[in-house]
Amino acid sequence: MNTDYDIIAIGAGSGGLSAVERAAEYGKKCLVIEVKTIGGTCVNVGCVPKKVMWFAANTGTMIKNAQGFGFKVEQKGFSWKKLKAGRDNYIKGITDWYDGYLQKLGIDYIHGFGQLADKNTVSVNGKEYTAEHIVLAPGGDPSVPHIEGAEYGITSDGFFTLEELPKKVAVIGGGYIGVELAGVLNALGSKVALFGRADKLLHGFDSMIQNALYKDYSSHGITIHHNTQIDKVSKDKTLFTNQGEFTGFDTIIWAVGRNPMTQHLGLETAGVKCDQKGFILTDKFQTTNIGNIFALGDATGHTPLTPVAIAAGRRLSDRLYNNMTDRHLDYNNITTVVFSHPPIGTIGLTEVQANEKFDKVKIYKSEFTPMADALLKQKTTTALKLVCVGDDEKVVGCHIMGHGADEMLQGFAVAIKMGATKKQFDDTVAIHPTSAEELVTMR
Ligand SMILES: Cc1cc2nc3c(=O)[nH]c(=O)nc-3n(C[C@H](O)[C@H](O)[C@H](O)COP(=O)(O)OP(=O)(O)OC[C@H]3O[C@@H](n4cnc5c(N)ncnc54)[C@H](O)[C@@H]3O)c2cc1C
Repeated sequence: MNTDYDIIAIGAGSGGLSAVERAAEYGKKCLVIEVKTIGGTCVNVGCVPKKVMWFAANTGTMIKNAQGFGFKVEQKGFSWKKLKAGRDNYIKGITDWYDGYLQKLGIDYIHGFGQLADKNTVSVNGKEYTAEHIVLAPGGDPSVPHIEGAEYGITSDGFFTLEELPKKVAVIGGGYIGVELAGVLNALGSKVALFGRADKLLHGFDSMIQNALYKDYSSHGITIHHNTQIDKVSKDKTLFTNQGEFTGFDTIIWAVGRNPMTQHLGLETAGVKCDQKGFILTDKFQTTNIGNIFALGDATGHTPLTPVAIAAGRRLSDRLYNNMTDRHLDYNNITTVVFSHPPIGTIGLTEVQANEKFDKVKIYKSEFTPMADALLKQKTTTALKLVCVGDDEKVVGCHIMGHGADEMLQGFAVAIKMGATKKQFDDTVAIHPTSAEELVTMR
């Protein structure tokens, strides 16, 4: 078949960009289409600006903590405006860089809303382009509940446009985005109330992590409301809930999940199937029910993380254009970090999941005040757990909260992915004095 392109990606976020970048490296003719800003959620309204805010929040905490180490310093002010300007400028640098990068790789880029016209054709800005392969990577956008007054709140996208540090904030949602935004705002000086529907924050995480987070967030001034369902919001930003009314907020942030952006993608026209929530269905090779159309990233509903979308996109192009016929992403044992204060890193099964799946489960855990906080008034918790199974105590889960957990886990993830046992952990000589050394010395 004679087509305009070898591959067209709809969505220039983590997934779509990775698929065409790798295809271009194999000499394929590629087009990527983006309706908002190149880089997608991660670069513009996700991981990157969020992490900048997290660094800022940590710096604020360090200034306060410096006194404990004898420094005569005080925080003489904080300019949210300056932080936002610096952050926006940094992001602009990244998105500007993409233009040159795509040109260098010979990838065509169109700004517009892409739609499937048939199984080999995408229409954008009133024109049609054909390709042998089409990749759907439209990502998702933040959900807002269908309740009265929902419009008085903002979402994580709105958080990144705030021009002032809110004074009193209600963050609604106990998932990782809610937990992260609550932590950042609290550390920067907002009064934060965090509302979750479940009886614990971070639903699905190991209970040790949930409990340690609750303890630290509560002791650091965040008010946590579990089991709370918001029924209505009034114009003065009062929350009406099953637990009563909560008032006095100047900002409400909905962090209640994300929806796939698949509504007007032309899925029906091309016959591509999705589930009831709109997530595109694929097999393990990212192939939809239409053999030359693929989907990846958040729009598939599997582990919505940037490195996951990137890995799926790269593997897809390796398979299609480099004869790596079985190349696909294994969605097991994917590491997740929550940039809370302190951060959380987790991989594999929780204690509960391991007990459901295996007969012989052994847990090793440890909880302590890290040395970094020993001289401080306001301390944090470090909590570590290894979930081991079978006679050889294969490590199937590792859960960490504490300073450095975000950086600590990557190396351990390699070992766990390779099937390491507790004995192999123990045979590794510790690095001292660190928090991570506990992971190779726990008894
Ligand atoms: C606040 C927040 C913090 C996050 N933090 C982290 C983190 O720390 N670490 C991490 O790994 N992940 C994080 N994520 C998740 C991460 O951003 C996503 O998993 C990742 O961006 C998914 O990549 P994607 O390619 O599937 O989608 P996206 O990056 O969302 O890209 C999809 C792109 O497609 C475009 N698009 C949609 N429909 C069309 C169309 N019809 N035509 C043209 N273009 C279209 C969209 O505008 C978008 O730019 C965070 C997300 C949020 C919201």
